[in-house]
Amino acid sequence: MSDGYRQLLDATIQHLEGLKSRGVRHVAVAPETLRALALTPLAGKSQIQPAAVPPKIEPTISMPPKKSAAPIPAALPKPEILNLKIETASSSPEKAAAFIALRERALACVKCAHLAASRKNVVFGVGSIDAQLMFVGEAPGADEDEQGEPFVGRAGQLLTKIILATGLSRADVYIANILKCRPDTPGQSAGNRPPTPEERATCIPYLQEQIDLIQPKAIVALGATAVDGLLGKSPGITKLRGQWQTYRGIPLMPTYHPAYLLRNQAMSEKRKVWEDILKVMEKLEMPISEKQRNYFLKA
Ligand code: URA
Repeated sequence: MSDGYRQLLDATIQHLEGLKSRGVRHVAVAPETLRALALTPLAGKSQIQPAAVPPKIEPTISMPPKKSAAPIPAALPKPEILNLKIETASSSPEKAAAFIALRERALACVKCAHLAASRKNVVFGVGSIDAQLMFVGEAPGADEDEQGEPFVGRAGQLLTKIILATGLSRADVYIANILKCRPDTPGQSAGNRPPTPEERATCIPYLQEQIDLIQPKAIVALGATAVDGLLGKSPGITKLRGQWQTYRGIPLMPTYHPAYLLRNQAMSEKRKVWEDILKVMEKLEMPISEKQRNYFLKA
């Protein structure tokens, strides 16, 4: 067995054990991958050169079971076209391996010693590594730190509804944050704080690498911290939202953070975010129904 193959295998096993420890019980594996795995050197004499056929890691994993959630007041309409998906090319083994290696580095990161000491989990990101659409938020909160997955708390459930309203699912897109660890709040039993400029600068290379590997066709930056983190100091989210920007050559749409919509329940604010999402759907040439176009317009 080659060193490269063994390293990939070790990283895969660690990754799967990490998922299992966080409650994930199913991993989607394509039939051709299963056939290739059955022919690995571990199964005895192989007809396949291990270096030539490393196991292909499917980018899409099933979600861990969710805790029961508080009702979300800012309810979005039920999506009509859940089965419509953006076409995704299947990931190359090299890309999957690079992603796993990046994840392993992030999971072991202790560059912010205070955050490494206080965190329960490094919240790396979730979704398809072949996604055409990527959402970037600020930082994990308590729920995300607990579950090791971004956007699973109340704001996250609203983001999930927004994604579903486009006809996509969380598994079709990729979701990550500027910061991979929950900002600590020493002496406080609850509450969140925004990342400091130093924490942002330390962590952003991981996100840059994620974006460089995924190469999405569009990025949605959720809220001021995400916009500033990606674009540098900006004129502010209120001025920038709804206007296409560019990040590392990729179109970036700034919009309000879903937590803002939970605080401000006005229909006009929901419509603003939805209009930003409609622009993203147009950019990705996704089908848009009349009903979708009219969400959050006054009856
Ligand atoms: N808010 C964020 O910005 N990110 C999360 O993952 C959760 C809440």
